[in-house]
Amino acid sequence: MSPEVTLLSHSPDPLRSLYLAYRTCYSQLTPQELARRIESERISREEMARFVEERLKTGHVSPLEQVWFEFLISGVSRAFSHQFVRHRVGVSVEQQSQRYVTYKGGRFPYVTPESVVAAGKRGAFDALMARIGEVYEELVQAGVPAEDARFVLPNATATNLKVTVNFAALLHMGDLRLCTRAQWEFRRVVAKMRAEVMRVEPMLGRMLQPKCGERRLGYCDEDYEAWKACPLGKVRPHKSTLSLLSEQYRRGEVQPLREEDFETIERIGELAGAGG
Ligand SMILES: Cc1cc2nc3c(=O)[nH]c(=O)nc-3n(C[C@H](O)[C@H](O)[C@H](O)COP(=O)(O)OP(=O)(O)OC[C@H]3O[C@@H](n4cnc5c(N)ncnc54)[C@H](O)[C@@H]3O)c2cc1C
Repeated sequence: MSPEVTLLSHSPDPLRSLYLAYRTCYSQLTPQELARRIESERISREEMARFVEERLKTGHVSPLEQVWFEFLISGVSRAFSHQFVRHRVGVSVEQQSQRYVTYKGGRFPYVTPESVVAAGKRGAFDALMARIGEVYEELVQAGVPAEDARFVLPNATATNLKVTVNFAALLHMGDLRLCTRAQWEFRRVVAKMRAEVMRVEPMLGRMLQPKCGERRLGYCDEDYEAWKACPLGKVRPHKSTLSLLSEQYRRGEVQPLREEDFETIERIGELAGAGG
């Protein structure tokens, strides 16, 4: 069983929402006037995209909360969902209940990590799941309510979620959970969320990167040893390197950034690939 992520719905026009949210802050016009200009195409989609893209490079993040995405998530473990629900801000979650859902015949779905299969331990893993299923069924048959029988179920038990997340929260989730230090299942789910957003609004999808991404922090803030071990460390700097560079710059040993340096930074992003 592997994670399945489906984008059910999203803000009707994410680009227009973001444009209006940002423009309202910086324009003498009322938001109604701005909306009418969009309606009459006096403000084109290209102009909106250009403007929003520039704003996305800044620290003005609250307008991002005005755009939301609705996801259906299945085939994930309870080990995953426990991490997911730790994200408190800008995320609404509904999850399949183990109180109201009783697994028939003790057959509960579960997720098997690839590392277990690679270690040649699938047999032992499956045998334990089968035994747990038997005990679960025994308890249910003995009149133990599902809410108590579930106490024997493992972290591997599969679960289903319906979530709504605003774009600011989604970016934060990407920062933390696309990082190679995050758990594989969470990384996979967020990578799939990213692919879904890419499908409907590529400009926003591209923004979803681990925190070291050139569209996010642009450097790794984890410890140095973790950075050395990370494949993205080959293309993205560690925070200590930036401190050193800053000191060298202060001493006049490093030149200020030139126009072409920004192109190099873009290329570094391409080198790191979509997941990066
Ligand atoms: C690699 C990794 C390892 C982890 N290991 C563990 C672990 O071993 N044990 C464990 O318990 N958790 C662990 N976590 C979970 C982590 O501690 C967070 O709970 C989780 O990542 C949610 O992140 P958040 O709090 O930034 O997000 P959100 O809850 O969505 O918060 C978003 C932002 O709002 C701020 N915020 C939210 N609520 C408040 C508040 N009340 N006051 C002030 N600021 C607030 C947050 O600081 C954050 O900046 C781990 C996470 C990662 C990515």
